[in-house]
Amino acid sequence: MADPQARLDELITRLKERGHRSTPQRMAVLRILATSEEHPSVEQIYEQVKADFPMTSLATIYKTVTLLKEMGEILELSFSHDGNRYDGNKPYPHPHLVCTQCKKITDLQVANLNELPQKVAQSTGYRIVSQRLDFFGVCPQCQETG
Ligand SMILES: [Zn+2]
Ligand SMILES: [Zn+2]
Repeated sequence: MADPQARLDELITRLKERGHRSTPQRMAVLRILATSEEHPSVEQIYEQVKADFPMTSLATIYKTVTLLKEMGEILELSFSHDGNRYDGNKPYPHPHLVCTQCKKITDLQVANLNELPQKVAQSTGYRIVSQRLDFFGVCPQCQETG
């Protein structure tokens, strides 16, 4: 994962450049998105922000997440049954591991995987504009308790 503090500073700078106000709630959302390895949903972000700022509304969280998405500063992973999850630490496409039981999502670090889009482009002649690679399974913790 990218350096969480550096990524947070980067997000703050991007919003400032665009003239967006930095409210304490918005800063809290940015911090969660930049530093979390959990790929939180909007609801999960909301629960965390609410712990520090009880007056926060779910709509406020949605607005910030939507804004960051429009700016291309977070990666959205949508799942037909389980809704959307977000990665603000690495906003570009990268492979994920998804636990079908506890719904945990982790970044997948496997050698040579980063070369895959380039190889696909070379062998098919496609100009690749986006990609998505998810592996679904049961994580070690769930295997132990299951
Ligand atoms: Zn699990
Ligand atoms: Zn990720």
